[in-house]
Amino acid sequence: MFIGAIADDLTGATDLCLMLARGGMRVVQVIGVPDAAFDFAAADALVVALKSRTIPRAEAVDLSLAAARRLIDAGARQLFFKYCSTFDSTDDGNIGPVAEALLGLAGAALTIACPAFPANGRTVYRGHLFVGDQLLSDSSMKDHPLTPMRDANLVRVLQKQTALPVGLVGYGTVEKGAEAIRAAFDKAAGEGLRMLVVDAVTDDQLRTIGKAAAGLKLVTGGSGVAIGLPANFGFEEGKANALPFPAPAGRAAIIAGSCSAATRRQIAAARGAGVPALKIDPQDIADGRMTAEAAARWAVESGHATPLVYSSNDPAEVARAQSALGRKRAGELVEHLLAGVAVRLRAAGFRRFVVAGGETSGAVVNALGPAALAIGPEIDPGVPWTVSLGSEPPLALALKSGNFGTDDFFLKAWELLQ
Ligand code: ADP
Repeated sequence: MFIGAIADDLTGATDLCLMLARGGMRVVQVIGVPDAAFDFAAADALVVALKSRTIPRAEAVDLSLAAARRLIDAGARQLFFKYCSTFDSTDDGNIGPVAEALLGLAGAALTIACPAFPANGRTVYRGHLFVGDQLLSDSSMKDHPLTPMRDANLVRVLQKQTALPVGLVGYGTVEKGAEAIRAAFDKAAGEGLRMLVVDAVTDDQLRTIGKAAAGLKLVTGGSGVAIGLPANFGFEEGKANALPFPAPAGRAAIIAGSCSAATRRQIAAARGAGVPALKIDPQDIADGRMTAEAAARWAVESGHATPLVYSSNDPAEVARAQSALGRKRAGELVEHLLAGVAVRLRAAGFRRFVVAGGETSGAVVNALGPAALAIGPEIDPGVPWTVSLGSEPPLALALKSGNFGTDDFFLKAWELLQ
């Protein structure tokens, strides 16, 4: 194994798998910390999917360290800590604390933090993260239900999460090439800096940063910065998994717990195209008016090829539910219900699921219980079809990070399945 990665959510892990596969590597995604019996031999890169983005930070650190120890024992030459390209986190973490712990475990002087993912409009310039044309703090991420991002200055955001000194490798240095970036790493290490936010606005810059990061024991970032890493180990970029996918046969459903703007547009497009949709309100779950049984029954009885069960709502409605129920409880009620829907639909013969939302996907996949996912064809940047491994029956799962995908995602995803 060359690269051993730890992702703080499931959709992020899948996204990273896709990037490394495109870089020519054989990649396996494992759900949760792999047990001692797990066979690592088949993978050039292994991505451990955790659900550690918003859990208490001590737990996130422990889980990440446990995963990293397994990866190091299995021979990983470089560790990668993957988080969201919108740097989803709070002042408590968990990006800073986990990166800090992994640096310690790897015995490394320095790591980088680079969430840029230009293919999805995430760029970093002078330490500031942009989502499309907007600063992160002006984007819809300012209203995220769990990790509202109200500051676009990543040096400041990360520095609030760690006692280790954070610095910046700016655009001017990145433009000069890998040698200059490496020199900047050395200079920063000499000054006692331990984590460096790195500017990047194009894939070519990410490839250059990847090259400069060849000697780092730990790289942290979005999936974008992984674009240049396989080449350091002699792999060649190609197009991964372009072929249609022999998916398990059975009925299909869409489950959406993401309140991100892209998901809400995708729901509107699906409804506009006649997809029947059941909207779930957290208050109804709390009051017992809505249950997983009832929602699953509705999907079964819809008779439609791809019924949609969703809780997604606009920021004002999410805020209303959170003030009545608490942020954490509202999220948990919804996640638990949607996971329960997936389990019941599987029992009713459903084998194909599109799931929207990182936390939501984590809850659904944990409930369905596969040990690992094999990566299939890419639906949109960062979102492939996958097939579950290690649990019966096999399922086709497309796990979509909330803000990813074109507006017709819920309509077109199925076209790649045989
Ligand atoms: P994204 O990928 O868009 O960030 P996630 O699934 O990671 O989506 O996060 C969305 C969170 O919001 C989940 O915890 C989900 O349970 C919660 N949630 C979903 N719908 C609602 C709602 N109507 N009110 C409050 N919270 C909600």
